[in-house]
Amino acid sequence: MFKRILVTGATGFLGHHIVPQLRAKFSESTVIGVGRRQADLLVPGSAERLLAEVQPDAVVHLAARSGGIEDNRLCPADYFYENLMINTVMFHAAFRAGVRKFLTLMGGCSYPARASSPIGEDQMWEGFPQIESAGYSVAKKVVLVQSWAYRVQHGFNSVVLIPGNVYGEYDNFNLRQAHVIPALIRRMVEARDRGDAYVVAWGTGRPVRDFVYAGDVAAVIPWFLAHYDSSEPVNISTGTRTSIRELTETVARLTGFQGEIRWDTSRPDGQMEKIFDVRRLHSLGLSCSTPLEEGLRKTIEWFERARHEGTVRL
Ligand code: GDP
Repeated sequence: MFKRILVTGATGFLGHHIVPQLRAKFSESTVIGVGRRQADLLVPGSAERLLAEVQPDAVVHLAARSGGIEDNRLCPADYFYENLMINTVMFHAAFRAGVRKFLTLMGGCSYPARASSPIGEDQMWEGFPQIESAGYSVAKKVVLVQSWAYRVQHGFNSVVLIPGNVYGEYDNFNLRQAHVIPALIRRMVEARDRGDAYVVAWGTGRPVRDFVYAGDVAAVIPWFLAHYDSSEPVNISTGTRTSIRELTETVARLTGFQGEIRWDTSRPDGQMEKIFDVRRLHSLGLSCSTPLEEGLRKTIEWFERARHEGTVRL
């Protein structure tokens, strides 16, 4: 079906999950994964060079600058510029290079801040996203227009998928950049080992999120690459609600941290409710079904091991 599939961002969090799934479906030698070390897509000309070298007929574009709510708030210009450039240039270069299929991911934070949950794909343009992460999320959602425009004008086949709040092994555990799950796992494991009396969690604990295990997101990618030929985006999530407070208590129980949880309300809550409508995903015969507790156990186990081996991003 595809002779060569190029995966950008292959060494990142989602790349670690998606590359093995693609290799299982399309064969080992078909999938060429590259990370920033091999091709820094912010350097002019590098996307074109990479495509000329690999000569792929499909591209799974995962390269992105992504991070948690605090880093987004502090560095919106970096998130905006890097994501807009990486996406726009890579997409255009893939089209120019004659790639037959281009698949990329964006974030659920690109939906309007006031979108009502469960958030359906058709709500994307109904308002401005949550301000703290708007640099990232506005840059990312531009690819939806690019996907539509190149399909209409050139018949270029691209697909954009929208995962919920993804977590799992290989995530970024750097506390300034981390999303809530790796941040809490790291704080609680370290506090447990030191015997600390408390850990700090951000905000009020009241926001609710739709957490999806990275392995579940990765498992549906080969299907979309092989069978889905539309610029209509699809939410990739569970559609289930978990409050940050509930999450925090679960991570405490699973890591064995027995101290107190203190809420730092000077930190942002972000959007209060962000749950995705997954009917489109289900109508395609697909779903993300790993229960949160099972995914958390796997993530914690991986973190504890990687911490000892020194292979985790801290
Ligand atoms: P968001 O979905 O874009 O808001 O992504 P995050 O994963 O960064 O944050 C999700 C929620 O978890 C927000 O309400 C945060 O305030 C809350 N939260 C609680 N503790 C932490 C923490 O240590 N780090 C992060 N990033 N968020 C936290």
